[in-house]
Amino acid sequence: MIGLVDYHTHTVLSDGKNNHEDMVWAAIDKGLDEIGFSDHVCVKPVNWAMSTVDLPVMTNQIMVVREKFQDKIKIRSGIEMDYFPGKETEIKEIINSVPLDYVIGSVHFIGDWNFDSDQSLYGKWSNDKLYEMYFRLVHQAATSGLFDTIGHLDIIKNFQVYPESDLSDLFEETIRILAKNNLVVELNTSGADRPCGEFTPGRMLLEICYKHNIEVTLGSDAHQQSQVARHYETAVDLLKEIGYTEIVAFENRQRKKIRI
Ligand SMILES: [Zn+2]
Ligand SMILES: [Zn+2]
Repeated sequence: MIGLVDYHTHTVLSDGKNNHEDMVWAAIDKGLDEIGFSDHVCVKPVNWAMSTVDLPVMTNQIMVVREKFQDKIKIRSGIEMDYFPGKETEIKEIINSVPLDYVIGSVHFIGDWNFDSDQSLYGKWSNDKLYEMYFRLVHQAATSGLFDTIGHLDIIKNFQVYPESDLSDLFEETIRILAKNNLVVELNTSGADRPCGEFTPGRMLLEICYKHNIEVTLGSDAHQQSQVARHYETAVDLLKEIGYTEIVAFENRQRKKIRI
């Protein structure tokens, strides 16, 4: 784990089970070089995200652990921001209101439907149509210029929802848009523990990312201590198999490369 980062973690400030200090201890135990916090922020009112009044609290809590653990591990400040088309100004104001090392842009909603947690509307559209709708939102998120990384890129597969036909063109187009907009893709290892049973993105999309010189970073989407850096050996092996030799670290929204 030496040299690695976990940039996708949640605390009690959003829907995580542990506080910042607990999560930092877990990262130290795993031997990570950096842990980044990325509690949910959502412009729609939901019970699993921080409210904006909590943002200064978040900043303060991160400063406290950064100070306390300065000799042991680097601690980064991020958020996982839900993307909604038409809400770019509001999202930008939130992002600019706090000091951040990186911003993960995630699509969890198609319209008002949280497809990531609510299974009730699956079946209303064909899977191909769902992929189309989901990835169009990812395209908009990428072109918004608001985000440093795209979270769990193919999360639409979460409940084992797979395309009915060959969607290579849609995937190629998606990765081209990410490349054009200089986005980093996180390899989110939580997918291995979700119904889909594989990382998000999966190998096929990662291979297209590599082909288009898209940089990657790592995140476990830990919602509790035991999930920090989960499945990292497998993730690093996969990245290396594909050809990656580096991942990206963030500080103050600037990138730095780390060899893996
Ligand atoms: Zn997410
Ligand atoms: Zn998350």
